[in-house]
Amino acid sequence: MFTYNVDSFLEKELVQIREFFYDFMAGFTDKSFCKMLRERKEWLPPVYISDEVIVIPKGNGPFDKQLGKSIKKGYSVFIYHEAVKEYCCIFHLENEYESVLSMVLAHEFFHSLHRIWDERAFLQDASPRTGISMERKHQLTESVADYFAYSWLESNADGDYEMVAQHRKSLWQEYASANWPYSSALVYLSDHKKFFEILALLKSNPAMAYRKLSS
Ligand SMILES: [Zn+2]
Repeated sequence: MFTYNVDSFLEKELVQIREFFYDFMAGFTDKSFCKMLRERKEWLPPVYISDEVIVIPKGNGPFDKQLGKSIKKGYSVFIYHEAVKEYCCIFHLENEYESVLSMVLAHEFFHSLHRIWDERAFLQDASPRTGISMERKHQLTESVADYFAYSWLESNADGDYEMVAQHRKSLWQEYASANWPYSSALVYLSDHKKFFEILALLKSNPAMAYRKLSS
């Protein structure tokens, strides 16, 4: 299952993820966000598959390699193929490989759109916005992207997607006490409105967004 060409799969998947994104964000009526979406109508990020392996130093979660990334240049998405395979092997999701790829793609897709709208949320400090550390900002941006990816998987009728979503949720729960940045996505599960509130606050008042996330 690890040998076939992933490009056409990702291409097809990305179009569906975008469609889901529009539905998912429909309740977010922030003016500048809606404007950004209108300007980016039908836009999709360029996606690159990379064999690079990037180890996360001082990782505090269940997996220490970066699965993907979204960069500022072209708001492109990278998928770290080798790390995705390893993720599947470690967690016995070999048969759900495509669904794991889809999760990573949705996560990075969300980062790209989020980044276009709120670049400062991704900047290393010194930004003029004080009162919040890079680590906390990271926790906020990761929690929203992971929640989106989880919701995308859950929206899909395919049983493999459901399995990968439930597995991801179990990791959030297991590593919540270790302060794994993605674990913060748990708060949105019981309160979907908070997802929009935190997105808006992260742009306008990140310190407040962090307080809201932790409350
Ligand atoms: Zn991320």
